Amino acid sequence: MKRIAIIGGGASGMTAALSAAEAGAFVVLFEHNDRLGKKLAATGNGRCNLGNSYLDADCYRGGDASFVSDVFEKCSPEQVRVFLSERGLSLKEKNGYFYPRSEQARSVIDFFTSRLSALKVTVLTGCEVTEVIAEKAGFTVSFVRNEGNSSEDMQFDVVILATGGLAGNNLGVSAFGYDTARSFGHTITPLFPALVQLVTNDKNKKTLSGVRTEANVTVSASFGGHDIVKKETGEVLFTDYGISGIPVMQLSRYAGEALQNVGTASLSLDLMPEYTFEKLLAELKERRAASAGLTIEQGLTSILQRNLLYVTLLRASVEPESHFSKASDETLKKLCAELKNFRLTITGTKDFSAAQVTAGGIRLGEIRSDTMESKLKKGLYITGELLDVDGTCGGYNLQFAFATGILAGRAAAGREMN
Ligand SMILES: Cc1cc2nc3c(=O)[nH]c(=O)nc-3n(C[C@H](O)[C@H](O)[C@H](O)COP(=O)(O)OP(=O)(O)OC[C@H]3O[C@@H](n4cnc5c(N)ncnc54)[C@H](O)[C@@H]3O)c2cc1C
Repeated sequence: MKRIAIIGGGASGMTAALSAAEAGAFVVLFEHNDRLGKKLAATGNGRCNLGNSYLDADCYRGGDASFVSDVFEKCSPEQVRVFLSERGLSLKEKNGYFYPRSEQARSVIDFFTSRLSALKVTVLTGCEVTEVIAEKAGFTVSFVRNEGNSSEDMQFDVVILATGGLAGNNLGVSAFGYDTARSFGHTITPLFPALVQLVTNDKNKKTLSGVRTEANVTVSASFGGHDIVKKETGEVLFTDYGISGIPVMQLSRYAGEALQNVGTASLSLDLMPEYTFEKLLAELKERRAASAGLTIEQGLTSILQRNLLYVTLLRASVEPESHFSKASDETLKKLCAELKNFRLTITGTKDFSAAQVTAGGIRLGEIRSDTMESKLKKGLYITGELLDVDGTCGGYNLQFAFATGILAGRAAAGREMN
């Protein structure tokens, strides 16, 4: 019987443990938190958005898009959902987003815990793995129990590294997986926070803080001989450090990449996405015609939240208190330009503690996409967020973690998927 150590009791580690144990292996699952799946419990605001029926190349970013499609070729998102539901996890779908039917992340952890126990997986919570050493045959895994202070060793034929990335606050994140992979010769591409809020240097941050508005958001940057232009639509939130909201989080990966490479990125907000420039100009002219006795700020009230309108006027060099009826066509054009292209210079992202995922990771060319086995060290498997793959919001990261966990667990136990 194969002896398998799985290091990390998160999404991919628990799935790997389940599939390896089902395939007949003796499995020990190490988790340094006092319980399994602490990060999983925090996902989807406690509801655990664990997959998505929509899939295209833009849903995943990282070193190599074909790696992700190869993984899903072997174990598709649909197969992941079948894997989970056939074993008793009830799922529900809302607009393509999958959740546990209970909409409680806790029940996903209960699902894994009970199934692992039924399969007699040895779960060692409160055990921090400190070293993995290759032996002539197999590996020695050293660990320290939370309540003890002496190191213990166990021998295994195979090791699955599932220690996750660096994102999230107080959820047990560690760099152990990266360090261990490096010790076996793996390359780690630059790591940076993604699905994260962006920091700007806008001098009106304080005035804008708290404003929410619908916008088309575009991030653009140039480096390494190529231009990045990516767009998202949705509600953005101005904050005292910069800007947040789903479209901003979705684009943060590209801003982070630009910051890594050239130290700057810029964001453009179309604050009036339902208008073309010409339609907006016509609307402003109409309002001007009916603005007797009104300042421009009063005449435009309610097109945007008050503070955002005020800042937009200042940016367009329009005095908010000036008479609207006296505004020239040129002034209105400048205002339209600002409303359609409200630019922000991005100076940074919030740090890993605020992020939902780690961009960068173990270089994909060094991993077999059908089994997650290292091409550099036989018997070493690497899953989930440790790899140089990051998904967008919408269940994509858990979907990838589960798929890689299933593949690694089966292959490590000697039963690859057909
Ligand atoms: C706040 C938040 C919300 C999120 N929401 C979603 C969502 O709704 N949908 C989605 O798809 N993704 C979401 N994600 C991302 C998703 O949770 C992760 O991408 C996914 O959990 C990665 O799985 P993993 O198995 O690679 O790592 P993890 O799930 O992070 O598991 C790694 C485990 O390894 C343990 N560990 C680390 N070092 C050691 C060590 N030395 N010894 C023993 N154990 C160790 C950790 O404690 C952890 O339990 C969210 C992330 C965050 C932070």
